[in-house]
Amino acid sequence: MRIFTAAILAGLTASAGFAQDSENAAQDENRWAIVIHGGAGVIERDSMDAETEAAYRAALDAALDRGGDILAGGGAAIDAVEQVIRAMEDDPLFNAGRGAVFTAEGRNELDASIMTGDTLEAGAVAGVTGIRHPITAARAVMENSRHVMLTGEGAEAFAREQDLEFVAPAFYFTERRWRSMERAVGEMGLPLPDRPEGAPEPEDIEEGHLDLLEREHRFGTVGVVALDRSGTIVAGTSTGGTTAKRWGRVGDSPVIGAGTYANALCGVSATGTGEYFIRLNIAARICLEVEMADRGAEDRPYAVQDAADLVIQGALTDLGGDGGVIVLSRGGETAWSFNTPGMYRASWGSGQDRIVAIYGDEE
Ligand code: ASP
Repeated sequence: MRIFTAAILAGLTASAGFAQDSENAAQDENRWAIVIHGGAGVIERDSMDAETEAAYRAALDAALDRGGDILAGGGAAIDAVEQVIRAMEDDPLFNAGRGAVFTAEGRNELDASIMTGDTLEAGAVAGVTGIRHPITAARAVMENSRHVMLTGEGAEAFAREQDLEFVAPAFYFTERRWRSMERAVGEMGLPLPDRPEGAPEPEDIEEGHLDLLEREHRFGTVGVVALDRSGTIVAGTSTGGTTAKRWGRVGDSPVIGAGTYANALCGVSATGTGEYFIRLNIAARICLEVEMADRGAEDRPYAVQDAADLVIQGALTDLGGDGGVIVLSRGGETAWSFNTPGMYRASWGSGQDRIVAIYGDEE
């Protein structure tokens, strides 16, 4: 895990470092980079079987290929972010789109957002049901409406006007997520909801799988931050939220500044217990640290890694929150920071090695 202590942070010379970053960006205007997460949580070796681990690594690898191909070929960061997240929304391994967690009423209520760093344009949808790709709906809000965030039925009406694809509730269904919700609802003393119409017959789940899900049950959100060859940074996040959520609960993922943020210098996507990320304005706060360093504030960290660590290992941890972030700078520098045992994550870029990692003790 790339963690910097406060002592190391204090020893950094802020402006010199960021000047270096700017210089690198100027030297290589063709630079591209991508960083991806698939959620953070209690993800540990002893609770993960080899097959499940291989499936997650393969999914992260495929996501890197998809995004890298677009960016290396000169494509736009907005397309890389949308396309990678669409693929992850269709993958039942992740808590986004297909594979999303269930509310206490047995529904899937999906949240997503996207932001473009050079223009500060943003779009988001919250609490939508039936839209196959919430990230595409978020992009449509950004590009084709006068608004930034649409919720529930209104967001769905807009998505229909935009000709976006709709699916039946059973499309999102996975036995693992359903069982995880049943367990949580039982613990809360609430009545068990009926299985959605069209859901498959109940199937046996290996105890190990359930155990893993139980421990990481709130997680599995997906997020991507990309830098394209023109120097634009885009960040996006998509999620089903938290298991057995109630009363139209919305987390940080669709909240610009909390779960997603991008400006000309920096982009962030977050994952973790949204109630903490909203109150700490985590994503924008990290970019603000980077921006202040760029303006010459000597007590500010110059690198996105340091800014991420400062906020996640500092403010988030101090408040008792759990989760993490992925971050990308305009110089193509990628970083992640999390305070959970693991985070599904991957990064790549021009002149950078590919990294795919899950556990906290990996790079
Ligand atoms: N941040 C998401 C939420 O609170 C959940 C997650 O990232 O796992 O809705």
